[in-house]
Amino acid sequence: MIKPNTHYSELKSSYLFYNIAQKTKAYTDIHPDAHLLRLGIGDVTLPLCDTVIKALHSAVDDQAQKETFQGYMPECGADFFKQAVQSYYKRRSVSLSEDEIFVSSGASDELGDILDLFDDDNTVLIIEPAYPAYVDANIIAGHRIIHLPSDISDDFAPYPDESIDADIIYLCSPNNPTGATFTKEKLAQWVKYANERSAVIIFDAAYEAFIEDEEIPHSIFEIDGSRTCAIEISSLSKTAGFTGTRCGYTVIPMELERAGMKFNSMWVRSRTTKTNGVSYILQRGAAAVFTDEGIAQIKKNIEIYKSNAKVIMSALEKCGIRYCGGKNAPYIWLECPDDLESWELFSLLLEKAQIVGTPGAGFGKCGERYFRLSMFGDVSDTAEAARRIEALFKAE
Ligand code: PLP
Repeated sequence: MIKPNTHYSELKSSYLFYNIAQKTKAYTDIHPDAHLLRLGIGDVTLPLCDTVIKALHSAVDDQAQKETFQGYMPECGADFFKQAVQSYYKRRSVSLSEDEIFVSSGASDELGDILDLFDDDNTVLIIEPAYPAYVDANIIAGHRIIHLPSDISDDFAPYPDESIDADIIYLCSPNNPTGATFTKEKLAQWVKYANERSAVIIFDAAYEAFIEDEEIPHSIFEIDGSRTCAIEISSLSKTAGFTGTRCGYTVIPMELERAGMKFNSMWVRSRTTKTNGVSYILQRGAAAVFTDEGIAQIKKNIEIYKSNAKVIMSALEKCGIRYCGGKNAPYIWLECPDDLESWELFSLLLEKAQIVGTPGAGFGKCGERYFRLSMFGDVSDTAEAARRIEALFKAE
């Protein structure tokens, strides 16, 4: 008899963003003329930068000529793409060999697929509040999950808890949903903890391009000792507006091995078996992000999102609402005012201010009294949202 993966039945039935969409639709059905200010889902709103668009166009033209036409790409990434990522890491003095860099169709795919490298019999540590895909991918893989709560007292970036034994550890910095970042010193503690236990850190660097504080690491590989215990998963989605274009990269150092097995070679085997790479056109567009011109242009877009953050942070400060994030990340994680729970605040903001945000409860139990606002929205809508937040919560 066929046996389905019964772990699927352990997943929570409704997905956070689906619930938000349902509640928002119920509101707009009754108020069809309402202008909603969408600060909920973390999707970008600005177009790809010029340098990327030119590279994409030129790659399309390459495909039109016999001399420049490209068929299958190498499964782990084209040399020109790997070299572009390599030079990006070099800017922060991180040396990677081309063989340690793998192209991907984005971080989501990798966060799920990477679990192929691990046996089912592993314990996973997930710091909460957490990006929901970490939990779901590990439920599907049948791993034991330990939730490590974080809160405002540890700036949502806790130190390792020596009493917990874990095999796989998820770290996300800058963090979704909290916008928190791990300092060099905290990351060094996690690297030490992982090496001592032969654990592996999966470091999600999807938001690294938003870091502005010099002392915050962009990559786990800025930390000594990380090459023997970490895998880094990154993405151009938020860095360069690739959410709909799809491209990312994963770094697996040659030194990373457990039980005599090298994770890098295993991943080569996984990619060459399960994928046929990422298209030539996309890799050309993605490589353009890492040129000097590309970096300067994506920075301008990131500055626009950061200007949204400043407006919201100022409104929250005027209302005396505590928050985290906004500075090195495109998310603001605020404490629900007036003792509200996060879904109550969701309804209040929707009904009284037509603002759509994300209830913290969707990111784990310890998010129940928090709320996430995304800074990827339209600039004038965000400014209007700030005004409405002030009107709702500022004491007279
Ligand atoms: N990791 C985190 C923390 C995210 O917030 C997201 C998307 O929002 C992803 C990964 C997935 O990004 P991608 O678009 O590359 O799949």
